[in-house]
Amino acid sequence: MNGLLLDLRDRLKPPLWEFINRAAKQAEERRWNLYLVGGIVRDLLVHQFDDRCPILFTDIDLVVDGFEGTAVTNGGIELAKILKQLYPNTRVEIHPKFQTADLIWKHDPEFDSLSIDFATARTEYYPYPGASPVVRASSIRQDLYRRDFTVNAFALQLTQPDRGKLLDFFGGREDLKNRLIRVLHPQSFFDDPTRIYRAVRYTLRLKSELEAQTRSYLNAAIDSGIHRQIQTEQTKVPGVQTRLKKEIKYMLEAPYWQTELKQLANLGALKFIHPQLTLDNRLFRQMQAIDRGLRRFHSFLKVRIDRWVILLELLLTRLDAEDGLQVAANLQLSEDSLDRLHKFYRFREHTLERLSQSQRTSEIVSVLQPHDLPFLILIAVCSSRSIRRKIWQYITQWSQIKPMLNGEDLKRMGYRPSPQFKEILEEVKIRTLDGEFGDRTQAETFVLKNYSPQ
Ligand code: ATP
Repeated sequence: MNGLLLDLRDRLKPPLWEFINRAAKQAEERRWNLYLVGGIVRDLLVHQFDDRCPILFTDIDLVVDGFEGTAVTNGGIELAKILKQLYPNTRVEIHPKFQTADLIWKHDPEFDSLSIDFATARTEYYPYPGASPVVRASSIRQDLYRRDFTVNAFALQLTQPDRGKLLDFFGGREDLKNRLIRVLHPQSFFDDPTRIYRAVRYTLRLKSELEAQTRSYLNAAIDSGIHRQIQTEQTKVPGVQTRLKKEIKYMLEAPYWQTELKQLANLGALKFIHPQLTLDNRLFRQMQAIDRGLRRFHSFLKVRIDRWVILLELLLTRLDAEDGLQVAANLQLSEDSLDRLHKFYRFREHTLERLSQSQRTSEIVSVLQPHDLPFLILIAVCSSRSIRRKIWQYITQWSQIKPMLNGEDLKRMGYRPSPQFKEILEEVKIRTLDGEFGDRTQAETFVLKNYSPQ
């Protein structure tokens, strides 16, 4: 076994290593080649240069082709189905259009949660910029050529006769060593502009730079106005929007999101989200405030909210309501997000003014009470300091205040449940919030004086 395979064996849990070998054996029996591709091979190589680089095995990409570089139609799907029989605990998801299948474990005692992607070596072409690629079975070399960067275009052969051989047709190893991110052909960013986002991400993640020629291709794609074409074509082909959303998510989840976002904004690449979207200092500070707000109020969150979701929502609040909601729909954001954005635009137009004028605690509470925490954080970071203070105070103090009296107390005092009951409790709550009662006795005295028991 050679160095890279040994590294792989040492880094995989034994059941996963065994799985890879069983998959390779099944492929060999059918006279197919099986390769490990994608980030995992790159990271194994990076690890050879830089021992501190962690390898995350959250997904594994395998590719099948025929011996001597021939195409195997549906080889990936076939192999996934065969392994599903050997591993009954898995679920298989087939994507015939792309000739791929995923084998998925969920909370498995041995494999944990893991997805292994089986693809058939394929070539693809883009009918027009940003479209979903049209796919045809082909050899591993062509499969690697359709990839984004040289450092992502490696394949490690898992089957005999060349088991352990690294396929590096485009000089990826040299680029990794020299810390350069390089596309495989000049058309690359036109075919798929989301590679612009990927390029910036990899420069940060791999502590690399854009290779000079690649930088000029990237600038040319941004300056070409191709983003307009994507916006008009996207209703026909949602492919580019799906990839864009994935890249935005990657970016806003990463520890270096602030640097990446700034770099993309400086390049003018935010226009792929919307032509009018820019990042000024104010917006950037608001985004940092969201990040802090989510950490600070973590313990008040009733449901989990992903940081990237709310950061993206904040970006969209910069657009007017119609455009922001259109972008959110194009990116297929969740119902929750769409709902929050709808509410945000309405709140900004109709309610914010009232909040700025409210001085009484009970009034502020009645304005903020219907909204959940992510929404409140969103509104707070976009508002003036005085409003922001009110919202923070609402979250940490006023939302926790319980009225001095409850229904049981009223019954004990001789009141019977009736529509008046609700009215009394509401009044007690308002006065409690506004600090009018020093203690329970004062609350009881107020009720007895103003409402007669039926
Ligand atoms: P990581 O998730 O660690 O950044 P990865 O390489 O596994 O790395 P994925 O986004 O899962 O990242 O992509 C898997 C592989 O698919 C990449 O290594 C690359 O070869 C290819 N790929 C992904 N997106 C594109 C794209 N937009 N254009 C071309 N190739 C792509």
